[in-house]
This record gives sequence, C-alpha cells and structure tokens, in this order.
Amino acid sequence: MRILIKNAMVVDPPKATSVRDVMILDTVIEAVYDSSGASGPGNFLPEPDRVIDAQGLVLTPGLIDVHVHLREPGQEYKETIETGLKAAAKGGFTAVCPMPNTIPVNDNAQVTAFILSQAEKVKGARVYPVGAITKGSRGEDLAPMFDMVQAGVRAISDDGLPVANSRLMRRALEYCKSLQLPVLIHAEDKSLAGNGAMNEGPVATRLGIPGIPNAAETVMVTRDIELSRLTGTPVHFCHISTAESLAAIARAKEEGVKITCETAPHYFTLTDEDITEYDANYKMNPPLRSQEDQNALIEGLANGTIDMIATDHAPHHADEKDVEFDKAAFGIIGLETALPLSLALVKKGVLSLEELIVKMSKNPAKLLGINNDIAKGNAADLTLIQPEQKFVIDPASFVSKSRNTPFGGMSVQGAVIMTMVNGQIVFQGEGI
Ligand SMILES: [Zn+2]
Repeated sequence: MRILIKNAMVVDPPKATSVRDVMILDTVIEAVYDSSGASGPGNFLPEPDRVIDAQGLVLTPGLIDVHVHLREPGQEYKETIETGLKAAAKGGFTAVCPMPNTIPVNDNAQVTAFILSQAEKVKGARVYPVGAITKGSRGEDLAPMFDMVQAGVRAISDDGLPVANSRLMRRALEYCKSLQLPVLIHAEDKSLAGNGAMNEGPVATRLGIPGIPNAAETVMVTRDIELSRLTGTPVHFCHISTAESLAAIARAKEEGVKITCETAPHYFTLTDEDITEYDANYKMNPPLRSQEDQNALIEGLANGTIDMIATDHAPHHADEKDVEFDKAAFGIIGLETALPLSLALVKKGVLSLEELIVKMSKNPAKLLGINNDIAKGNAADLTLIQPEQKFVIDPASFVSKSRNTPFGGMSVQGAVIMTMVNGQIVFQGEGI
C-alpha cells in the first residue's frame, strides 16, 4: 500500500519547515520531496493507492506522550488499553508510555508482555510500557528490571508512589545506568504532602481544603538531582508544577547534571484560583499551583528548561470524582485535549510551532531513544493537524472511557485531522 500525503507543511525540527510531499510505502516513509520540482523523486515513484491532500495542514512526526495511565490490567472500568490507545490516536499521539500502577503493578515481565499483547490487537497508538522501579511500587525491593527490559519495558518509574528510601533510589539509578533505561520521576515527599488535596495557599485556606506545599515536590526534585549527580544516571522529572522545582532543575542543567523534565497542559492552562466550586475535575497530583508558579512554568517552556509536555492522562470513573473534593481521586484525562491546549502557547507567542513539536514529539522520542525524523526509511508514524480549526471541547465526544476533565465547554483551536502509526491510518477526522 502506497499513500501520498501531498502539499503538507512539514514541521520536523531541526529541519526547516517547508511544504513537502511524503510518500509512505506500507509501514515506512519512502520519500520526502518538494513536489514543485520537476526532477524530484515524486516523478519517478509508482502511483500511490491513496492521495491525501494536505494543503494548508501541518504534518509532524507523531506526537509521543511519555506519561499516561491506561488502567489495564485491573481497572478496566476506568479505561482499557484499547480505549486509551484509541483516545491517544484521536489526540494525535502515535505512542504513549503507560505508567506501571496497574493492578497488578507492571513490575515483572508477565505484566509487560500482557500489556504489549493487548496493545497489538488495537488500531491505535503504540505502547512503550513503563516498568516499576520497586516490586509492587512498595519502595522496598528493586523490581526485576532486566527481565522487564527483555519483555519490552522502555522506561522505569514508581510514578505516584516515589521511592522514599534514598539508598534504594541510588541503587535503582545505578542499575538503570547500566541498562540505559530512562528513569521517570514523580517527585513528591509523601510525608510532607500528607492528606493535602490542593495547592497550599490562600485559595486552599478560603475553601477549607487541606493543602500540599510546593516543597513536597521540590525537596524530592532536589534529592533526585543530587542522586543523578552522584550516580551519573540521567533522570527525567514528570509533571513539574512549581517555580522552585524549575529553578533547581535549571541550575542543575547549567551545572551539567543530565536532567530532562516535563509539565502537563493543565499546569500552564489553569491555576488554583480556577478551583471555585469544589469540582474534583480540578484535582490532580501535583495540584494546580499559584499564578506565580504558572508564570514560571510558561517561562520554563519558552526558555527550554521544560523539555516536554506530557498529559498524565489519568482516567477515573465519575463515582470517584463525584464526591467531596478532599475525598475524590487525583487526576484528569488529557489525551484528547493536550494538542489544542498546547497550541494555545503558540497562539500566545510563548512557543513557535516548531518548539511545540520538539516538546510533544522530538524530545519525548529522544528520551526513549527513538529516531522519529520524517525521513526515508523511518517508520511512518505521523500526525496531520489543522492548527487553525476552532472547536469546543465536548467530553461526550471523547473516545476515552472516562470523562474527568475540567476543560469541557472550553473553546480551543487546533484539530487532529489524521494519525498514522506504522503506515496505518489509526485516526481520521473530518476534512480528508
Ligand atoms: Zn505522577
């Protein structure tokens, strides 16, 4: 099967953005060329079976989300691998990294193999499973990382249950260095966060909701910067939410510590001041922070301290959210809203479109050790976007099994027109 994507604005930094034709043969990119040139390779290739007119559309290497929760095995009432990977495809993602906090935890090769076999049956995004650092993510004994890598794990994390024991974390980092396995760190001092349910500050006081101080994140960021420095193992910080964490990361990067970090669309779109009606769709961990923190995150996105945008897609059933704020589950879904929310940064002039694609595709690929350039011979994992298309976010239209989002009813701009994984169209919107 040969598919020609014609006249697309190809955004694939560091290459210059330009209008190109992209020919796909079965699973790979066969040629990328300037269709206006009479001597271009397009004139010598066989006729395609299908032509997609991409005039006025942006073609990017497939978006990659390094932080999602697909809930299978164990909590299929929230999401399944199938619904999660289809939601990802609809959101323009060609690959996602599901965190290990399933039931059972992905802390062994059997669970990893199960996740990959379920994913294989789905016409959607690819899966790059994340294995647990410790058995059961209990923070006591290291999980069998080598076995998990053999089974297909692409990164390691104890996400919501960070390793509190610094000596054990040091050993984990030393081990990951030898395996060249990316370490994804949810930085949180659980004892300091306590029973907090939102950002500690004047808004929490006014609402009478227990707070989580910025320091609960920042003390662990600081510890793991030092453990990275000590072991020489690169670390990646998940969902950074505070100005202080960002300052520590910027300083450590300057000193040459090998660190990357991400933030999520909700942190640069909302603040704790948006929490007014005890709506638990505004409850996530880390919590929505203050305006000053958000300003620092936006600055960090612009100056490159924040390398990536990830969703922390965390599906929950309505029953787990439809309770008092401090009793509700943490987390919101994000796969089907991330791109338009992030494109708002381009609209506001915070990022160029190229810089956004670096944060949503190129840097995540680099973290996972993947070459996803739109280039001959590479897998045809591509996202086609209409960046100007306006629409209103309607949770009823989500493919995800869950609806826990604070963004329902919001007017946004930027629609996914098509998502292609391994040469196969896994999502097709209106307009092509
Ligand atoms: Zn997390």
